Amino acid sequence: MSGTVYLVGAGPGAPDLLTLRAVEVLKRADVVFYDALVHPGTLAIAGRAHKVAVGKRSGRRSTAQRFINKQLIDAARKHALVVRLKGGDPMLFGRAQEEIDALRRAEIAFEIVPGVTAAQAAAAELGVSLTRRGVARKVAFVTPRAGAGEPANDWVSSVANADTAVIYMGAGLADAIAAALIGRGLAPQTPIALVENASLPEARVRSGALADLPGLAKTLGPGPAVIVLGEVVSTVQARTLAHAELHSLLKRA
Ligand code: SAH
Repeated sequence: MSGTVYLVGAGPGAPDLLTLRAVEVLKRADVVFYDALVHPGTLAIAGRAHKVAVGKRSGRRSTAQRFINKQLIDAARKHALVVRLKGGDPMLFGRAQEEIDALRRAEIAFEIVPGVTAAQAAAAELGVSLTRRGVARKVAFVTPRAGAGEPANDWVSSVANADTAVIYMGAGLADAIAAALIGRGLAPQTPIALVENASLPEARVRSGALADLPGLAKTLGPGPAVIVLGEVVSTVQARTLAHAELHSLLKRA
């Protein structure tokens, strides 16, 4: 008899954005395999679990995915409750399908616990709805990154065809992204916003025009960031200032 593997969404960072189900599963976990972006406060909830760091930011290459799959299977053969803890929602840009396929092949039971994805946390940080009546009815989540051996994806068309686009894993590619989108015919003044560390106290927001994206990206730190593009972020500026004021007021209090 094997145990069950739970693919759990850790959310964008703030531990209090976990679902109640995620907390319950973490508390009961025997082993937790976690990504580098997972907050220490979130890991701490898995009080009795043996914790294993996996994922690229902890120094492993993406080619180690097969090794992660094997670790999950081996752990499930020894323990009742194994958690694979992934940033945001496990089913978005998290290679969950490879793990699910491997678990199926090994005939190991698994469950998915959804999480708040970075796009949702970024919208909250910006104080803008990703959809808006009469303005935005089509939202795309894209990434310009493709893994080794993976065919290039046409993210440029997806962004061009969406009303609102959220670009994951793109802040380090800001120059190429701006050039590709403007080259495709998007107006250089298309509103964009960058959100780094959404949901955490150290969150940073930048906003402006697509043409300014490379310069704005350089003012961010090393934290994870998304780029939000489209008419809905044209109203960010005023709100961001109010937001900054609020934070300084709270600090003074
Ligand atoms: N499964 C995750 C995405 C993993 S890909 C999710 O659903 O959110 C990793 C990318 O997510 C990062 O490069 C960044 O673009 C984005 N990201 C993750 N956490 C973030 C955060 N707190 N703020 C902004 N972007 C974040």
